Amino acid sequence: MTICRGRCLRVDLTTQEIATTSTPDDGIGGRSWNSLTLLRELAPGIDPLGPENILCLSVGPLTGSELIGSCRFIASAKSPLTGYLGDSGARGFFAPELRWAGVDQIVFTGAAERWVYLLIDDGTVELRDASHLVGRDITETTTDLRRELHDPDLQVAAIGPAGEHLVRYAIISCNLARAAGRTGMGAVMGSKRLKAIAVRGSQPVKPADPDRFRRACTELEAAIEGHPEFESRRLYGTTRIMDSLAAMGVLPAYHFRSANFDEVEKVNGRALRRDHVVKPKSCYNCNIYCSRYNVTEYNEGEGPEYEAQAGFTVKCGNADLELAVGVSNTVNRLGLDCISTAEVIAWLMECRHEGLIADADVDGIDLGWGSREALLRLPEMIARREGIGNLLADGSRRAAEVFGPEAERLTAEVKGLELFSADPRGIKGYGLMNAVNSRGGDHYRAEPSIELTGDEVLAIRRVGNPDAAHALKEEGKGALVNYAEHLGILSDSLTICKNISCCMDVVDFDLAAVAYSGLLGKDVSPGQLWEVCTEVGQAERDFNLREGLRPDEDTLPRRFVDAPIPDGPAAGTTIDITRLVSDYYREKGWREPPPGEN
Ligand code: SF4
Repeated sequence: MTICRGRCLRVDLTTQEIATTSTPDDGIGGRSWNSLTLLRELAPGIDPLGPENILCLSVGPLTGSELIGSCRFIASAKSPLTGYLGDSGARGFFAPELRWAGVDQIVFTGAAERWVYLLIDDGTVELRDASHLVGRDITETTTDLRRELHDPDLQVAAIGPAGEHLVRYAIISCNLARAAGRTGMGAVMGSKRLKAIAVRGSQPVKPADPDRFRRACTELEAAIEGHPEFESRRLYGTTRIMDSLAAMGVLPAYHFRSANFDEVEKVNGRALRRDHVVKPKSCYNCNIYCSRYNVTEYNEGEGPEYEAQAGFTVKCGNADLELAVGVSNTVNRLGLDCISTAEVIAWLMECRHEGLIADADVDGIDLGWGSREALLRLPEMIARREGIGNLLADGSRRAAEVFGPEAERLTAEVKGLELFSADPRGIKGYGLMNAVNSRGGDHYRAEPSIELTGDEVLAIRRVGNPDAAHALKEEGKGALVNYAEHLGILSDSLTICKNISCCMDVVDFDLAAVAYSGLLGKDVSPGQLWEVCTEVGQAERDFNLREGLRPDEDTLPRRFVDAPIPDGPAAGTTIDITRLVSDYYREKGWREPPPGEN
């Protein structure tokens, strides 16, 4: 279905030619344009780090508008970490600036011979030499470009040393700490020798039907300010969730060996706010200000979000929050995905704990739980592929193959993408979503967040089943994940912040249709948007099947399937992932995998 088209820049990095075309005539924007472009144009079986890979970067029709949270871009390519579809979104100010520069999608093909950056300055576009930026971290790259171009407001999306060294979970980051973090899009950018994209724009987004568009903006603003989580999100951002997950008994302490972390009070959101936060931070046009600037004895920076906070504390058995925040800042500057980085370090610590690796295997680094040496040294070694860092830079699945089956048994990844900081056995919808979603083990692909609030009324409204709201029930989870996936695709395509749309659940298809229709000045129904999201989800599945995806990969790591949660409030809880996946397949209308296949 053709809804709208935008302006696409085609940048051939091999020939250095730049052309202007239209965005795909199907899809909505953002992720939908990227996924459809990749399915159509990418040859199957190519090397994700070779010049044949295509890197798409898109905003959506609402990006940079008055609608709260319309601040994201989506970067997509074949993932060097999973070998399947890779994509990831970043918030901040870069995406609105790109839209104000009149660009909706950039498609990078080929690979440059020497390092370059792309400068988009309203009407002009050019590739420039970036050799002086090589080796610079993300903060330095941004600062250097702003100084060089005499513009402190220049918006920059860049890679750090991790992207340059093709770390398979390298990020693209804008506004210093706003990352397109998952699936290694920074490594694809590095493989093309594209160090950064710098943008200046000045053309405001004008809705074609201002009254209708304004109605959606006002409704969303009121829904956010009246939301029961509004205040806690303002105070703590995503770090508020640590206490809830502790109470539910799903913390991943000592790399999922326990749900209890005795020193949780030292590392939770309140401790972070009390001891390290110096000021709140926001993305473009958001009234939540859920991010924060921190100062530590090691460095300073923005964040951390819950994933970095929990990953470098609870998951690694570390009760020193100062250290964890410092590591999070370093990881951001180096251009590493904090989730995958924390996961590979925690996995390595568990391997050492189990006696599966020797000191000599890891350059003599102390790998005891919470080791300061490991947390300070390993991110730098990974980003530059030094020593054991070279192996870890390829992700936990590839690293485990070197250490043998027992080490493989301890990994926590799906399709090669490292899992988040919660135990999937105790939150069944999240467990299922991690098992089946198109980019691998990941909590943010689609957020079945109703099971974190237990809101039965909302569960009935969304999927007609109150059981879906209960984290420990398996009923209704196929429908819940299918709904959450559609909402995730909608959010990634309109490029609305998913903390707002999916986690707070204040953007549904009705509101999105009013906003979208108001912006375009033509009637687009909620049903039409749902239908496009169904098509995009299927296109992403088709992409992965074409790359060799098997149904038995729609599962969770054996460590979660074979044993119950060992202790804490949810002790004894198991997950029947075969049943959950069958339920989901039925919901999608896919052939059910034979019993036991997953
Ligand atoms: S909710 Fe937070 S992450 Fe989302 S747009 Fe607002 S400030 Fe940014």
